[in-house]
Amino acid sequence: MSNITFYSGEQFPLEMHKVRIVQKLNLPKVEDRLTAMEEAGFNTFLLKNENVFMDMLTDSGVNAMSDRQQAAMMQADDSYAGSATFTRLENKLEEIFGTKYFLPTHQGRASENIISQVLVKPNTIVPMNYHFTTSKAHITLNGGRVEEVFTDEALNLYSDAPFKGNMDIDKLNTLIEKEGAEKIAYVRMEAGTNLIGGQPFSLANLKEVRQVCDANDLLLVLDASLLADNLHFIKTREAAYKEASIRDITREITDLADITYFSARKLGNARGGAICTNNEEMYMAMREYITLYEGFLTYGGMSVREMEAIAVGLEETMDEEMINQGPEFIAFMTEELQKRGVPVITPAGGLGCHIDARAFVPHIEQADYPAGALAAAIYIASGARGMERGTMSEQRNEDGSELLANMELVRMAMPRRVFTLSQVKYVVDRIAWLYDNRELIEGIEFVEEPNVLRFFFGRLQAKSDWPERLAAKFREDFGDSL
Ligand SMILES: *Cc1c(COP(=O)(O)O)cnc(C)c1O
Repeated sequence: MSNITFYSGEQFPLEMHKVRIVQKLNLPKVEDRLTAMEEAGFNTFLLKNENVFMDMLTDSGVNAMSDRQQAAMMQADDSYAGSATFTRLENKLEEIFGTKYFLPTHQGRASENIISQVLVKPNTIVPMNYHFTTSKAHITLNGGRVEEVFTDEALNLYSDAPFKGNMDIDKLNTLIEKEGAEKIAYVRMEAGTNLIGGQPFSLANLKEVRQVCDANDLLLVLDASLLADNLHFIKTREAAYKEASIRDITREITDLADITYFSARKLGNARGGAICTNNEEMYMAMREYITLYEGFLTYGGMSVREMEAIAVGLEETMDEEMINQGPEFIAFMTEELQKRGVPVITPAGGLGCHIDARAFVPHIEQADYPAGALAAAIYIASGARGMERGTMSEQRNEDGSELLANMELVRMAMPRRVFTLSQVKYVVDRIAWLYDNRELIEGIEFVEEPNVLRFFFGRLQAKSDWPERLAAKFREDFGDSL
């Protein structure tokens, strides 16, 4: 779609698919959205989907499947051992990644569990471009430590750096020198770095990381969960790969890694996970854990139907017109919000559009959860739900004080091929209205606060009657409109 030039001179993403199955959406009235938010304890995780107009909570397991994926699911082979479905997926992974060995897992974090159990020993270190929640948890659970070696640009919210997911090579070398290579369990590179806004690494950077690994005899592990977006950004932002095919770029990336793993809830547009390698010793070591934690070696906890869908989904990921859909819709949303003055992370990444809550509602103290309050306000204003990625998502310090997050973000995820451009325009319109009425938004506080992962289940309340006043202002401005 990026190759389309419009007569009007306008530029906007054009869907290269048509819709053949639809799901009816419900847009409740603003008064009902207010009630639903109160009932959900001001936590978007606790909203019932029947009350959600646009579900922008996550891109995990909710991307739209193609007709070919659905068709492939019908021919899945259920046999426990020797399943033809396993062979089809194994062959597809070998064709695309160039890896001989494939271990199936039920989802991405299950791959992380197994890799960590095999490679992370107590007091070892895993350097990485940035952590992901589940990756870090499994490494620390096995007694290891995460060291983030990101570049200075990574945490700069307003940037034009094309590859904020790059690893800082000097910092990596310094770390290895200081700690000694024998203390490094492996080096982890995450494609489409999730927690800093779906930001990519460049192939040039990955090659440098590989050189450091070679010089120090270290394993390089690639988290390819968000690889599709990263492929698109390499092709469109890295000059040396302008003419390269997505397939060739993929192969160059996976050839540099010793182990490639991913969540098929993201990569492959289905549900499941995988670990791929050419290292026979690693394969043999990890294999035992598959049967222990996941299932037999030919399905690893996945349904064979999903495995068929992954094989086709991976093939479709090699199609540039398919994988550019997500990033281009996100870029559109980001640019439209910027035009209206709304503070958003730049450059636009994969995964979703990220709103800077500290700049949106600067009058709310961090301890009053500005990103949580903004996520609730966006739902009340639009019926769209995003996810808080700020202090609410952190865990308190041991002494009970708040651990204030580096960034206060609301992530509006863009599940792939799910929304039309007019729906994206709608949510931009409502967020712009909210921005013009931002002084109405105030803080929220916990009424039920779990000790771990409080953002999933915790219940909160508004610290004043601001949600009622916000809903009333909406009614005043929009009349009878939904
Ligand atoms: C989602 C994700 C995971 C974990 O995958 P699950 O399938 O949710 O367990 C790991 N790494 C990254 C980068 C992810 O985005």
